[in-house]
Amino acid sequence: MKHRISSLLLTGIFFLCAGCGAPAASGAAEPASLQFFSMDTVMSITAYGEQGQAGVQAAREAVNRLDGLLSRTDPDSQISRLNAHAGDGTAVEVEPDVAELLSFAQSVSQLLPGDFDITIAPVMDAWGFTTEERHVPTEQALSAALALVDSSQLEVDEAASTARLLQAGMEVDLGAVAKGFAAGEAEEALREAGVERATIDLGGNVTVIGTRPDGDPWRVAVKDPRNTDGYLCILELEDVTLSTSGGYERYFEEDGVRYHHIIDPKTGYPADSGLLSVTVVTANHVLADALSTALFVAGPEEALDFWRSRDDFELVLCTDDSRIIVTQGLEDAFQLYDQDGGYTYEIARR
Ligand code: ADP
Ligand code: MG
Repeated sequence: MKHRISSLLLTGIFFLCAGCGAPAASGAAEPASLQFFSMDTVMSITAYGEQGQAGVQAAREAVNRLDGLLSRTDPDSQISRLNAHAGDGTAVEVEPDVAELLSFAQSVSQLLPGDFDITIAPVMDAWGFTTEERHVPTEQALSAALALVDSSQLEVDEAASTARLLQAGMEVDLGAVAKGFAAGEAEEALREAGVERATIDLGGNVTVIGTRPDGDPWRVAVKDPRNTDGYLCILELEDVTLSTSGGYERYFEEDGVRYHHIIDPKTGYPADSGLLSVTVVTANHVLADALSTALFVAGPEEALDFWRSRDDFELVLCTDDSRIIVTQGLEDAFQLYDQDGGYTYEIARR
């Protein structure tokens, strides 16, 4: 099985075993596929059926529209306008769905205090993550940046579709939720075009629509955070979205120490919670993206406590002592990728 899986090529954190196994039923056309660069990552969308071509085009447009609205590095984006007016009292007009996204991100900060905050931007800048000059910041620079992180100082008026940052110097960075949001819009575009089977891979955020053309579930692989050419496990899934966060995707090294891009808002340092990666599986795209980041910061115990307090998502956690923790709802979907891969797995129950 291992050979069959690894002989197929795909990009992103996940590998979608889209075409493996028996050939599709006779008469099934080749899928329409698009690969493109958006939101600072490589994305690929594949859609089956007659509407496939129209669907993938519409999905790409939806993603690019959001990139234009949400990017912090594009000075014309709505988020850049919001940031530029920090502290000057201006309520900046944003699209209704952007206002909704900002409110949702704030609610995640309230659910998981100290783990997640979209006003983390000044800290990202202090580390140079937004530029190519990454470096360990001085304690002084870090504490000045941390003093600006507080999403309760972000005022969102969903009815008026405006947002305002109350303190000068504050900035919003939607890196933790933008791709999930885009995945939701891409799925909607595909479904509106009439597509019933598709895979969307937005660099770490994977969505599967329907089943494979042969009627079997999609096989989605979760990358091994220690060896990104390998995989932790395969999940057999239909109509669901997944988001993975880990310290292995974007990082730099200084004096032999590795620093990654998911920051613990309590310390201003890259999160070191005992987890190497977190995969969230759910029907809600933005929830998946936000929680994969937040629970990576939270660590395994808090992540499982939070899972037990809700019923709208499932988890695959990879710990730094080489355990894979899979929540109960994924028990039937889960297959360990490599028995000799150095990982053990356990099922977490409610
Ligand atoms: P990726 O974008 O690599 O898929 P994530 O979804 O986990 O990974 O998002 C990481 C991004 O989120 C960072 O690049 C940064 O923009 C932002 N971020 C980092 N730490 C936090 C945090 N604690 N809370 C909210 N956003 C964060
Ligand atoms: Mg995320």
